[in-house]
Amino acid sequence: MRLRDKVAIITGSGSGIGKATALLFAKQGAFVVVNDLSEKAGNETVEEIVSAGGKAIFIQADVTDPGSVESMVNQVIERCGKIDILFNNAGISGVGLLHEIDVETWDRIMSVNVKGVFLPSKYVLPFMMERKSGAIINMSSCIAEMGLALRTSYATTKGAVLSLTKSMQVDYAPYNIRVNALLPGTIITPFVENYLKTSYDNPEIAIEGLKKRQLSGELGRPEDVAQAALFLASDESKFMMGSPLYIDGGVVSGKNA
Ligand code: NAD
Repeated sequence: MRLRDKVAIITGSGSGIGKATALLFAKQGAFVVVNDLSEKAGNETVEEIVSAGGKAIFIQADVTDPGSVESMVNQVIERCGKIDILFNNAGISGVGLLHEIDVETWDRIMSVNVKGVFLPSKYVLPFMMERKSGAIINMSSCIAEMGLALRTSYATTKGAVLSLTKSMQVDYAPYNIRVNALLPGTIITPFVENYLKTSYDNPEIAIEGLKKRQLSGELGRPEDVAQAALFLASDESKFMMGSPLYIDGGVVSGKNA
């Protein structure tokens, strides 16, 4: 029970990495606020948690909408009186050559992946500052540290999240709030499955190509990232501040070797 009695908000936890993390945090004793755009997916995560004996509620909110994010945070405070952990996980993919990306697509990915980290942090921080306690985990990606084909819009957002994490940490360290970033490699989730389907004629061959990029020879699982999030959320990582944590099967080390 590494998160006993902690209250955690996890954005985008109706699917993939967020969902795996919600299940793990609840198993470790946290009260989990499952957030997602999708009511169906969010409620399914809550049902799985509750049927396994854990505690969770679903709050639908679009992380790009200030009103709905503020309302979500206020609902959590009214119900639980505090927020110990914020995992800014929600994100969307963006594929294509820069000169071919339409402006609406660029704006949407910047909005979900960057503003979607800014807004929940903005509304949660005052409550963490008041208690002089908190852990914020921001979802970056190993793409923030390396170049990959057809990924300029997505890479821009994940680089921004890494920079944001470091400067947030400086500002909020005096309040005993830790802010760290996760940098996963390729993790098999609906997000990656959609990307493979839409970007390659033969997704199976594409998966084999992606596996070769990892030193592990295998792609990651959502549970691998959830374990890293658990470490950053728990007091065991109390000496980690403003750090990038790689869960990438060695992709970045391999590229830089
Ligand atoms: P996923 O698509 O399986 O899950 C993302 C969830 O976020 C979905 O349930 C979706 O409904 C929700 N969401 C999207 N927009 C939202 C919004 N505006 N407000 C609230 N919820 C919203 O994706 P995943 O693979 O689990 O990715 C989670 C995060 O991890 C993303 O930020 C992604 O960029 C990052 N990431 C993923 C990988 C990977 O290989 N899967 C690698 C590195 C980083």
